[in-house]
Amino acid sequence: MSEGDVRVARPSGDAVEVRCGATAGEALRALGERRVGEAIAARVDDQVVDLTRSLERDVIILPVFPDSSEGLEVLRHSTAHLMAHAVKRLFPATQVTIGPVIAAGFYYDFKHDRPFTPEDLERIETLMREIASANLPVERREVPRHEAIAFFRALGEHYKIEIIEGIPEDRVSLYTQGDFTDLCRGPHVPSTGRLKAFKLTSVAGAYWRGSERNEMLQRIYGTAFASPKELKTHLAMLEEAKRRDHRRLGRDLNLFSFHPEAPASPFFHPKGAIVYNELIAYIRRLYDQFGYQEVLTPQVLDVELWKRSGHYDNYRESMYFTEADERAMAIKPMNCPSHCLLYGMGTRSYRDLPIRFADFGRLHRYERSGVTAGLTRVRSFSQDDAHIFCTPDQIEGEVGSVVEMLFRTYDLFGFSERRIYLGTRPEKSIGSDAMWERAEATLTQVLEGRGIRYEVRHGDGAFYGPKIDFCILDAMRREWQLGTVQLDFSLPERFDLHFVNSAGQEERPVMIHRALLGSIERFMAILIEHCAGDFPLWLAPVQMRLVTVTEEQHAYAERVLGTLRSAGLRAEADLRKEKLGYKIREAELQKIPFVLVIGDKEVASDTIAPRRRGAGILAATSVPDLINMMMAEIRPYMAGGVP
Ligand SMILES: [Zn+2]
Ligand SMILES: [Zn+2]
Repeated sequence: MSEGDVRVARPSGDAVEVRCGATAGEALRALGERRVGEAIAARVDDQVVDLTRSLERDVIILPVFPDSSEGLEVLRHSTAHLMAHAVKRLFPATQVTIGPVIAAGFYYDFKHDRPFTPEDLERIETLMREIASANLPVERREVPRHEAIAFFRALGEHYKIEIIEGIPEDRVSLYTQGDFTDLCRGPHVPSTGRLKAFKLTSVAGAYWRGSERNEMLQRIYGTAFASPKELKTHLAMLEEAKRRDHRRLGRDLNLFSFHPEAPASPFFHPKGAIVYNELIAYIRRLYDQFGYQEVLTPQVLDVELWKRSGHYDNYRESMYFTEADERAMAIKPMNCPSHCLLYGMGTRSYRDLPIRFADFGRLHRYERSGVTAGLTRVRSFSQDDAHIFCTPDQIEGEVGSVVEMLFRTYDLFGFSERRIYLGTRPEKSIGSDAMWERAEATLTQVLEGRGIRYEVRHGDGAFYGPKIDFCILDAMRREWQLGTVQLDFSLPERFDLHFVNSAGQEERPVMIHRALLGSIERFMAILIEHCAGDFPLWLAPVQMRLVTVTEEQHAYAERVLGTLRSAGLRAEADLRKEKLGYKIREAELQKIPFVLVIGDKEVASDTIAPRRRGAGILAATSVPDLINMMMAEIRPYMAGGVP
């Protein structure tokens, strides 16, 4: 190794020597990296840098390709610069501020005298394409701070000056592409021609440095991908997410609303309440099969109870408080302490166990307004909550039957892809080593005994016991946690709960907290987006709508309506003097599963002409046959999910 050389190595060990000051790109080439032409940056030791960065010491080096997560970040970041470049060309008086990469793309904030219009975005995007195809090199240089300040002052870029003044280093880096120079740490693509797949998505107002006391800026959002194909897939996914957004469908289908009088607390409309109550009815039918007993417990309970349960110490920030008769009371955020009170009444024998208390009680938890969103995170909700009190020997059987309930339920809703996580003992925990070992072994055995694939999340258990979380992937392959099974060694201790074992001695029961759907509100949000508002027949708020061709068929329609309703089906009739096509279209917009058309022919033959949403026109049928067909479809759900 001659003096003035540095050693560059791949993580695998291959190494070569290059002259000191060679660029990262040259080093990769010297290493024989075949795809170096596709690389947009390099990883040098722990840092992603420009391909033009010169190497002054021995390093480990790897190419960064655009389809890796690091590469995507470089692409998106460089595209933000490209956008700023285009904005400055089109609107020279506009000042640039900051432009970070975010989860699904990037944004850049501008000081602009008015909001950008959709037409502006189009012009900016077109110019971005021109600058990209000019394939301008992107060059970095380091300058002393005062020089950078003078540079931006001459350009009238006051925000940049403010940013530089906040940087402690003596030197800052500037990046130049063509006639545009920006302050930045980098790294960037080597030239603008590498930016091939991008799209500006939206505009919004944003305060400088996020503070309402500062000036309002104009933020443009965009995204970029390694290839046009990936961009297209992403944009289609965004469209689909918008189409399925439960907040929008909730409004369009008249299911629920929110009001400023009760922030983040949904009001369910009659149709939303039908879906809500059908979900609970389904769970109740499961409970009948699995030996649960439903209980009803108070909403407002003495603060002393919450001190005893530990919620007051550990969960107070999420609780609402009130007072009555000069007693401090809390509105329940959970049902567990009430169920402990119920268990603790009288003497329990091992023969009484397991005891399974189910409770759909309304819960209130304070959530900061920044994190609430539609039905997915609310302050007022109910869960399909239950607590099982059992002997240690019964844990395996109980958890096993919860798993059976869960899987049956997820099958029913078409959540066929699941991810299951076993959370083990965290650092801070109560209970003996032996107890934890046994509990974790039991949960593992339940999963493995059933051939269930799962992932261990070390230390993710609660301080009071290990748990299993059950997640599903929805139609858009987003992961949601629904069910949970948590063992609890703490509450039976705090509430001094016992049972008398077969030897006549007092023993502590184990408590299991478990939920299948979790919060019903949140589950509804997930389900609405999963099925895009097309509820399965058994859940649809209106299962069928009768539509008449003329007034001549009204009497017949009323009679059919009565028959359908007596059969327990949710039917309604549209007898308005509107065109048939218009009435059918309206029923379709409401995503009603069956539209039953009645004209003179149907009246004469005592039939109806059904249309099934998604399947088109079905053969004309008699009303009893139609009822049989629908009931056959609904029955499994009525039977607690047994097909
Ligand atoms: Zn940059
Ligand atoms: Zn609980």
